[in-house]
Amino acid sequence: MTTKVRFAPSPTGKLHVGNVRTALTNVLYARQTGGIVVLRIDDTDLERSTKAYEDGIRRDLEWLGLNWDETFSQSDRFASYDAAAEKLKAMGLLYPAYETEDELDRKRKIQRAQGKPPVYDRAALDLTEAQKAAYEAEGRKPHWRFKLSGNPVSWNDLVRGETTIDTASLSDPILIREDGSYLYTLPSVVDDIEAGITTIIRGEDHTTNSGAQIEIFHALGGKAPEFGHQALLVGADGGKLSKRLGTLAISDLREEGIEAMAILSLLAKIGTSDPIEAFTDIQTLIDGFSFEKFSRAPARFDPAELQRINAAILHQLDYAQVKDRLQAMGADDGEAFWHAVRPNLEKLSDATEWHALIAGPVETVIEDAGYAAQAAEHLPAGELTGASWGEWTNALKAATGRKGKDLFLPLRLALTGQRHGPDMSELLPLIGRDRVLERLKG
Ligand code: GLU
Repeated sequence: MTTKVRFAPSPTGKLHVGNVRTALTNVLYARQTGGIVVLRIDDTDLERSTKAYEDGIRRDLEWLGLNWDETFSQSDRFASYDAAAEKLKAMGLLYPAYETEDELDRKRKIQRAQGKPPVYDRAALDLTEAQKAAYEAEGRKPHWRFKLSGNPVSWNDLVRGETTIDTASLSDPILIREDGSYLYTLPSVVDDIEAGITTIIRGEDHTTNSGAQIEIFHALGGKAPEFGHQALLVGADGGKLSKRLGTLAISDLREEGIEAMAILSLLAKIGTSDPIEAFTDIQTLIDGFSFEKFSRAPARFDPAELQRINAAILHQLDYAQVKDRLQAMGADDGEAFWHAVRPNLEKLSDATEWHALIAGPVETVIEDAGYAAQAAEHLPAGELTGASWGEWTNALKAATGRKGKDLFLPLRLALTGQRHGPDMSELLPLIGRDRVLERLKG
């Protein structure tokens, strides 16, 4: 059977590293098994969902290279959800309840005071037709709850292993609100059945949902898919990441100059038994994917680690892989330039600074004008090449007796205005004879 997975973001905010970890796991599993990826837009919450967020999610996934084969939006599928709701009502599994939020709250408080779990007492199941009519006459509208079996539901989770949710410990979930709108629970099952989803991979925060949803799959006549619930991301200190996820939006990371592969490299490996490394292509991640490597402990997400991986990826990229982007930022000085500056980059945009520094003008730093004049005199004749720096500094050493830092640093400062930077033997031919002589004059 062909694997079919879905990634189901809600377009109520920007895509962040937490969602992307789920998307990535789905994509890696599908691609490794020759399966199909569905992008489902969970926009049943018509008030909070926006087209702008949806477009942003698609753009971010494409930029990351997380491609899908099929896509649809839940807002186009209300007729299917209505049909499923009718079916459940006819089976007596979807029942109307009239309690207000306040009334439910009061019930929960009493249960807690009595040391009982705050599980819905199913009072609505005992309502007579006359009582329901009286509520309706009062202007109350019902919300609709799914009647759980009260039995334990078990499955062999791809990440967690044998997992059991005792539905007796859960409140019958509300599937439809008073205003007739759907909560996420039912539409998701209807879509998963109709799209033929074989595997649901999502965050551990959905584990309890899965218990109820498996019963809905069965009630609607579908076979429940297999499930994998990933441990959630936490901060580097082990603290909650949820509040900080807003600042870990993919579009912001992209603007900061983080490479797509840096994000994927980190998110594919945190929380697994594999070491975290800089990968430059997604195929390596696909080949190395295995649910068995996932830990059940929360995965620590460290932004500093993302920066390190980002730099490591840049240091490995070939000129051909960055040429277009360098050109777009006006910093394409050819292959020799790329090789010279590449080891010094933390972000690709840092290349613009080195580009500007080669072209000049630069604020040269000359501390000893006599030494600078001697340096100008000993500059090898003709066009500067990769060998020129060695020849030049050897000649200067012989002429001045300087060595080490005293020999090299004044030259670097005069030519670049900086104490650190790319290898001078690579930089020298890029700066070129005329600019070198000019800079040595100060
Ligand atoms: N829209 C849901 C969420 O973002 C999808 C959960 C699921 O994958 O079923 O949490």
